Amino acid sequence: MNPRRTSKPIQIGSVTVGGNAPIVVQSMTKTDTRDVMSTINQIKELEECGCELVRVAVPDSEAAQAISAIKRDVSLPIIADIHFDYRLALIALKAGVDGLRLNPGNISEPGKVKAVAQAAKERSVPIRIGVNAGSLPKTANPKLTIAQQMVEAALQQIKLLESLDFDLIKVSLKAFDVPTTIEAYRDIAQKIPYPLHIGITEAGTPRTGIIRSTVGISTLLYLGIGDTIRVSLTAHPREEVIAAYEILKSLDLRQHGPILVSCPSCGRAEVDIVKLAEAVEEELIKIDKPIKVAVMGCVVNGPGEAKDADVGIACGKAKAVLFKKGEKIGVVEEKDFVTVLMREVEKF
Ligand code: SF4
Repeated sequence: MNPRRTSKPIQIGSVTVGGNAPIVVQSMTKTDTRDVMSTINQIKELEECGCELVRVAVPDSEAAQAISAIKRDVSLPIIADIHFDYRLALIALKAGVDGLRLNPGNISEPGKVKAVAQAAKERSVPIRIGVNAGSLPKTANPKLTIAQQMVEAALQQIKLLESLDFDLIKVSLKAFDVPTTIEAYRDIAQKIPYPLHIGITEAGTPRTGIIRSTVGISTLLYLGIGDTIRVSLTAHPREEVIAAYEILKSLDLRQHGPILVSCPSCGRAEVDIVKLAEAVEEELIKIDKPIKVAVMGCVVNGPGEAKDADVGIACGKAKAVLFKKGEKIGVVEEKDFVTVLMREVEKF
């Protein structure tokens, strides 16, 4: 795995992005931002499952103003997602937003960017230059590849912000196409010092979107690229946060809650391992300890994996051997598998 690219850290409310800070997990609310109570409730749900930054859509001035009321009730830093109308960014800043996302594909006129940059600088609020392959600036050179056009769009906006003495910058270059996204990030990573927000845009429903996002995000992270991630899914945003942590845990980049090791099951299993693993997974959602739990179907690989975990069971016919830190600590009846395993997890 490549060492992480060095980036210039920025501060979004209480959260540092870039530098040596842990790779930050973020998501976006799917409520109407003008519906303050629903948005607050969804942000609280996201915070409970470990989300560290949250973006809200700002389609009009009422949504921008709502940020003030939302912020009074939540502790997660809030980023306003602004398109088309730079004045919404000014209202969001007055409302106390912690970060802005501007799309250079629809806000790029120097006078408008200058007004936003000045107001953001007064409040030390960072701006993400959020380039999206689906909304590139009209001035993009069609002779370039999409990845190159995305990089160009970001570099132009960076140049403009730097000319205004603004450097609280974060950049994203998102496409649905994974190779395009990777190519764009690899290119810009060598050209700028700013932290990178990575993700695959419009990745789809959890079944396909998690795979597409994981391929893109984990390839970049393995290359040392990425300071904050969002897994975009057509689902409740909680699923985005859970998937993001699974990616980071798989690469040993963050610890967050339990890791479940479970065998796929096969003709050797004498208990319903699929059902058992799903039941254990459901229980583990409530645990926030970084603990490794194994659920194995038989004596072939079962004892080895179960021993390697902090707590594990290797099942046989209607019974399982229970392991804790590599030691066999008992034999459990099938009806008690989940209860006994979770009791040991909680004691751990
Ligand atoms: Fe099959 Fe046993 Fe391996 Fe599970 S641990 S997949 S039951 S051989």
